[in-house]
Amino acid sequence: MNQHRTWTMLQHLGEEEHLAGAVTPPIVQTSLFVMPDVATFREAMSGQFDRTDVYSRISNPNMAQVEVKVAALEGTDHARVFSSGMAAISAAILSCTKAGAHVVADETVYGPTQEFLRDYLPRFGVETTFVDAREVQNVTNAFRSNTTLLYLESPGSLLFRLQDLTALCDFAHGQGAMVAMDNSYSAGIFQQPAKFGVDIVVHSATKYLCGHSDVVAGALACSKEHYSKIMVGEVALLGGALPPFPSWLMLRGMRTLGLRMNQAQLVGNHMAAYLRQHDRVMVVNHVGEDHPQANLYRKQMSGSASLLSFELDGVTEHIVETFCDALQIFQMGVSWGGFESLVVPINLKLPSWSESKWIIRLYCGLEDPADLVADVDQALKKAYA
Ligand code: PLP
Repeated sequence: MNQHRTWTMLQHLGEEEHLAGAVTPPIVQTSLFVMPDVATFREAMSGQFDRTDVYSRISNPNMAQVEVKVAALEGTDHARVFSSGMAAISAAILSCTKAGAHVVADETVYGPTQEFLRDYLPRFGVETTFVDAREVQNVTNAFRSNTTLLYLESPGSLLFRLQDLTALCDFAHGQGAMVAMDNSYSAGIFQQPAKFGVDIVVHSATKYLCGHSDVVAGALACSKEHYSKIMVGEVALLGGALPPFPSWLMLRGMRTLGLRMNQAQLVGNHMAAYLRQHDRVMVVNHVGEDHPQANLYRKQMSGSASLLSFELDGVTEHIVETFCDALQIFQMGVSWGGFESLVVPINLKLPSWSESKWIIRLYCGLEDPADLVADVDQALKKAYA
């Protein structure tokens, strides 16, 4: 089933056995698994956790069904699912650092990931330097002899800047460092970072992978070697596994992932084209053919999704608030990747900027694209009335 095309794989991989003929797998709502005899128990306890389910903090059949699919999407040996994107991200980072280590990260990675690196890890003697990783030189300049991890997010989820994965991975590997990347935007459909050398791919599966705004989940995909390390370390000891029911919901969500990402591309392009021709819209941050790094987009990605941001002419807090409050279909809320369209006003300040600026982030959901554009159009009229 691994050999089949993505949409087929998403329906069937890891689900070859049907309990009592049921076409959908049961929810294995158990905390532990009992063993028939001492020999089986000893083998299970010997650390071969990937062969036998022992305890649902470590593994469970519902987790396994989605994990094989995530690994197939990302083209890695293995994947693990976690109880949130941040659980997967913190596990990935911790697995590549120790006291005295240094991390280089792109300055636009997800906010709480930045907080974890900047404010939390120094307690354990780990420092981070944030750079604009669009320029490879900025990364090479920031590397130190103790840099053990380069952490990327391409595209980032606010400004949608891209990073040159091949160049950055080649450099980091040459320095003996690992590379981890947040691939939530592309959902393993539009981009497979492992192909370009990324060692650990992480996801907020809460977003497109689950796709229905009813689950918080995370995923991590990597090689067999790193998986073995992370299984006995961060997975077993930090206890952030995804429970059986949310794993099952993730499985259900992933069945329509291909379809939903096709629609995401369509509506994202439609909204970006509308915004670009609007005389009050100064900048549209959208991944695709119209992106300032379009060559890199073509090299690394096979499509774009429905998350984008824009900047307004003569913008004030009042204009931003009036726009957001006037929207009728877009609801105000963090997160993205579900069925519903969302808006977030952000007064953004990057480490390399001297001043903050207003951006408006739109997530276009599964409503009719024409209704979404009409909603933004009427709200812009009210904002500038
Ligand atoms: N990465 C990105 C790009 C995100 O947008 C988010 C959440 O919004 C996360 C990671 C964290 O994921 P979670 O909220 O599932 O912990």
